[in-house]
Amino acid sequence: MDLTWSDDEEAFRAEARAWLEEHLARWREQCGGAPASGDTAEGFSQQMVWEEMLFEARWAVVSWPEEYGGRAASLWEWLIFEEEYYRAGAPQRITQNGIFLLAPTVFEVGTDEQRDHILPRMAAAQDLWCQGWSEPGSGSDLASLRSTARPVDGGWVLDGQKTWTTRGAFCTHLFGLFRSDPGQERHRGLTYLLVPLDLEGITVRGFGRLDGDTGFAEVFFDGVFLPDAGPLGPTVLGEVGRGWNVAMATTSSERGLTLRSPGRFMATADRLLALWRNVDGPTRAPHLRDRLVDAWMRAEAYRVQTLAVVSDTLAGRPAGAATSLVKLWWSELDVELHDLALQLLGPEAEVEGPWSKGWQFSLSGPIYAGTNEIQRNITAERVLGLPRS
Ligand SMILES: Cc1cc2nc3c(=O)[nH]c(=O)nc-3n(C[C@H](O)[C@H](O)[C@H](O)COP(=O)(O)OP(=O)(O)OC[C@H]3O[C@@H](n4cnc5c(N)ncnc54)[C@H](O)[C@@H]3O)c2cc1C
Repeated sequence: MDLTWSDDEEAFRAEARAWLEEHLARWREQCGGAPASGDTAEGFSQQMVWEEMLFEARWAVVSWPEEYGGRAASLWEWLIFEEEYYRAGAPQRITQNGIFLLAPTVFEVGTDEQRDHILPRMAAAQDLWCQGWSEPGSGSDLASLRSTARPVDGGWVLDGQKTWTTRGAFCTHLFGLFRSDPGQERHRGLTYLLVPLDLEGITVRGFGRLDGDTGFAEVFFDGVFLPDAGPLGPTVLGEVGRGWNVAMATTSSERGLTLRSPGRFMATADRLLALWRNVDGPTRAPHLRDRLVDAWMRAEAYRVQTLAVVSDTLAGRPAGAATSLVKLWWSELDVELHDLALQLLGPEAEVEGPWSKGWQFSLSGPIYAGTNEIQRNITAERVLGLPRS
């Protein structure tokens, strides 16, 4: 693996860096101070402005083909962009569930009509997608889900409930799994549906998180008629009854590279280093210095490991179950980076601020995208070949 960037890649980095610096400053000015979290109504609408800026300059979906609003950037350039994005302190994308979780699946199994209608509107943040998989009682054991899609003339009737839907309170569309064949059990007889959230019979009820953000939602379906096709094309993604296989394609994106690119953790590790330099002597205990060095090295190792995964992917060697290792790595690293920051801040950490908020969110990393206990099971069985427990 050659770790030297080409002249073109360096030019791409310089262009991204200059654009981000100028436009982030402009956007923050428009927000009239520090932007609110994208998981609140205020922050969400502030970020709609940011999304428009990104889209107009074709930075919203850099790796997508130009016809869908992208730059046809390589995976390497995508990683470079992500490094610059987080280095500049830009916000987590409100469009990320659509762009990083649904879009790869639309590219892979969608029809031409779905690609043409869904992707450009997603890139422009005209449609905002949330993930509707989890249900009360069906989290880790997703195959036990009970929400139904009953086939009727010209479409489906949906009933049931989804929960833990990130930013569902503010989104316009949901991609979800529904039981379409009650005669089949577990992962058979499920269908992957694309659902506009303004249909009659849908109730979206937002609820607060521990950190006070209010974007999470429960989504209730009560005799909802979903037509076979809508303005975005067919509402079934992939084949009827084979939703599980379609969903698993999304899962590997979620656990793997796209949701948590290394740029994010490198930026946090660098900010932690700056914090160390700024805090007063007593909190700079030697054991914290050792932990800091160790965490910084783990962030750097994650970056190098990701470069290796990209290299393998481009050589046609897919990561497969090893994406579970990636998920374990980034989620545990994120907790450690934030925990260290709180140690360095001492009593100041009790005051609400970016580090304490970041720490609260980091605790959810080992839970979402498949809990770390489940990732360890997958690693044991499919990577190490150990017997099922
Ligand atoms: C911040 C955040 C955002 C989320 N966003 C979304 C979203 O947008 N859309 C969506 O659909 N869902 C979302 N989720 C839900 C998430 O996918 C689930 O929380 C997760 O899959 C775990 O399910 P659960 O909460 O029902 O826990 P459970 O499945 O009930 O698990 C409880 C505990 O038991 C452990 N456990 C369960 N089964 C096993 C086993 N076989 N072996 C070992 N341990 C086991 C788990 O690891 C966990 O520690 C989000 C969750 C969080 C925290």
